[in-house]
Amino acid sequence: MIGQVQKPLEEILEYLEGKEKIVIVGCGGCATVFQTGGEEQVREMAERLEERGKKVLAAIAPPFKEFTCYAPWSAERLKAHRRQIEECDAILALCCGDGLQVIRGIVEKEFGLQKPIYPGVNPMGHMGGGPDLFEEKCQQCGECELGRTAGICPLTQCPKGILNGPCGGVRPDGKCEVNPDQDCAWVMIYNRLKALGELEKMRRIAGPKDWSKMTRPRRISLAAD
Ligand code: SF4
Ligand code: SF4
Repeated sequence: MIGQVQKPLEEILEYLEGKEKIVIVGCGGCATVFQTGGEEQVREMAERLEERGKKVLAAIAPPFKEFTCYAPWSAERLKAHRRQIEECDAILALCCGDGLQVIRGIVEKEFGLQKPIYPGVNPMGHMGGGPDLFEEKCQQCGECELGRTAGICPLTQCPKGILNGPCGGVRPDGKCEVNPDQDCAWVMIYNRLKALGELEKMRRIAGPKDWSKMTRPRRISLAAD
């Protein structure tokens, strides 16, 4: 999931300065789990904006499990509010940057409208866990190393992102040089490989990063050839 926190209201109001009629769009996926843009937060944001003198034309809150970043679902939902979107001065997206840009694309390409769209959320990377505590688990590096590292990601667990660790700073008690409250990622990897009987994998050296896989934006096509 995309970990995220809601932006402070004052920052959102700065974006919306001079805009009177607003459409809010939330998300039934990650934004619902992280309580940034679910049905409750969309309703609360509408109330807060109305209190600050805005006119909320539509507060669009997809039901739980309906992801705003999935364009076919978003297109259907936005079509049901097309009139309000045509009439509004700005759209406030209570979802991650994926969702915001999917909304922008639908409004521009399918509705033929140029509308300002602003983020109400700060996304913080892919996270797993819950229901209360979430932690970054993967940076989507494009060349997953978990098969070599006992299922522990060195890019997210190690502050230096060292792929052939540990660094020279690991503490005698196995804690990280950078953060003494945290176990060194490579000590954890070593211990787990040992428990799995796969210690020889510590000797396998990760080669240089293949940056050709990191051209931006990365794309995946599911269309048949
Ligand atoms: S190595 Fe880490 S960052 Fe890369 S894909 Fe695997 S889990 Fe994600
Ligand atoms: S001590 Fe371990 S986790 Fe910390 S920076 Fe060095 S290799 Fe990474």
